[in-house]
Amino acid sequence: MTYDVVVVGCGPVGALAANLLGLKGLKVLVLERELEHYPLPRAVHLDHEMMRLFQSAGVIGQVEGDMIATDGHLHVGADHGVIRYMGTVGKPRPFGWANDYFFYQPELEAHLREGFAAMPNVTLKLGASFTGLTQDADGVTVDYLGGAEARSVRARWVIAADGARSAVRKALGVTLDDLRFEEPWLVVDAEVEGPVAFPPLSGVPEGADLQRLSVMMCDPARPATVVPGRRDHRRWEFMLLPGEDDTAMMAPEKVAELVGAWMADVPHRIVRAATYRFHGLVAHQWQVGNVFLAGDAAHQTPPFFGQGMCHGLRDVANLAWKMDAVANHGAAPAVLATYQRERDPHVRAVIGAAVAAGRYICELDPARAAQRDARIRAEAAQRSGETAHDLIPAIGEGVILAGTAGAGGRFVQPVLTDGRKLDDLTGGDWRLFVRDDAVPGQAEGVTRILASTLPDHGAVTTWLDDHGVDAVLVRPDHYVFGTAGDSAEDLLAARAAQLSSHQELAA
Ligand SMILES: Cc1cc2nc3c(=O)[nH]c(=O)nc-3n(C[C@H](O)[C@H](O)[C@H](O)COP(=O)(O)OP(=O)(O)OC[C@H]3O[C@@H](n4cnc5c(N)ncnc54)[C@H](O)[C@@H]3O)c2cc1C
Repeated sequence: MTYDVVVVGCGPVGALAANLLGLKGLKVLVLERELEHYPLPRAVHLDHEMMRLFQSAGVIGQVEGDMIATDGHLHVGADHGVIRYMGTVGKPRPFGWANDYFFYQPELEAHLREGFAAMPNVTLKLGASFTGLTQDADGVTVDYLGGAEARSVRARWVIAADGARSAVRKALGVTLDDLRFEEPWLVVDAEVEGPVAFPPLSGVPEGADLQRLSVMMCDPARPATVVPGRRDHRRWEFMLLPGEDDTAMMAPEKVAELVGAWMADVPHRIVRAATYRFHGLVAHQWQVGNVFLAGDAAHQTPPFFGQGMCHGLRDVANLAWKMDAVANHGAAPAVLATYQRERDPHVRAVIGAAVAAGRYICELDPARAAQRDARIRAEAAQRSGETAHDLIPAIGEGVILAGTAGAGGRFVQPVLTDGRKLDDLTGGDWRLFVRDDAVPGQAEGVTRILASTLPDHGAVTTWLDDHGVDAVLVRPDHYVFGTAGDSAEDLLAARAAQLSSHQELAA
């Protein structure tokens, strides 16, 4: 059998890809080396865009219960005074979800797998380890070991979601661009029976609840992160100091000492402790022929803004609608060449912000740490009101009508008068929102929606007003393709032209 897509790796990124592609009717085979999904948490934070993608993938019902809405991020300086606050308390929620959530990765992965389990067009092979591939004009032959047996399978496309050590990436000979950040940290997960005891902190904004924030202690004596989790789960991350040994730092008595300082008399049980190298790496090439790297296979980030997995989920949301467009709606295969053009600068911008934060968080020199605190406090006025959402840029080029207001940004998702969210009403494919019936424009494969009749408290009309336009065309991954004045016809024509021929971008 020839598949439309072979997905290598069923971590969160491969699993979301299987859901999104499966819903579009593509024949998908997922090859996963392990027999069970990874039982310990790595990612603990995700943002509103991921919740929207879970809506698109039809798994939000299962996943929502895993999530704890949280209040954002707080960075604390060497003097235990706040230097940076990216809080969301009391702020509007234009995308229909809280800006930040904490969760337990094994639960999320289990629910993502349940999502595609019932799809007859999606097959998951466990214990199937990718060993190699060859490409020709028609597609890809993927070799894997299923148990002791060597097997091969054909696919039109391959998504390599096989993690940081990606065997697919190595087989393709793709190298990684090192963003020159590498610091060793100890990651500890614990089940706790009470609140974390923070030292006295000054400058904590009114209304900010330390127990609901991701708190970064930029203390040169030992930089550390304290993160809430779902139910009784808590995460600590401690930087290793020069000369400290990984094995000694993971020893139970050392872990007990480090975590115990935060738990006072609160009973707690360590679930795991492991050291990681936090680094910033981005693949030079995300597409080789019909093979696409996604998730940690394509990039890795220091986890200071909790965006590593989020990048990967954005990757496959980007790929999935383009593969659907090519396989089912006659789009030119060259459209897939926009994948790296859209995703690479986006990922580099966010990893750049995480690396920049990492450089000041990991400062071990007390004098320089004091200067840092003064500098970041001085910059606070420019950052006033910032949330982690502001770290995520718009898409700059690709399948967008660049230069039109709002193009490449994420479109709003208001909550409707009946409590549902916009996508629940409109669906998640291409959507053209027009101010009212007087704005002409419709096209096959695009849902036309009158903003004037939406039960959305006027949010879409307000968006049009804010951008000075009468029409906005939104892509299936919820990014704005482009906007227009009193007619949407040229906008739709631009979409059709870009999807049918992406020569200049494919070059
Ligand atoms: C300490 C830490 C904290 C983090 N915190 C956050 C956070 O808060 N928020 C966030 O968004 N991200 C965070 N991340 C990053 C996040 O965990 C990863 O980005 C995410 O797990 C990557 O998902 P993936 O599906 O690309 O890769 P993986 O989760 O690594 O999955 C890859 C899959 O491929 C399989 N595989 C590997 N080789 C083969 C093969 N040859 N054949 C078949 N299958 C194969 C593996 O078994 C695995 O199931 C954190 C990471 C760490 C280490």
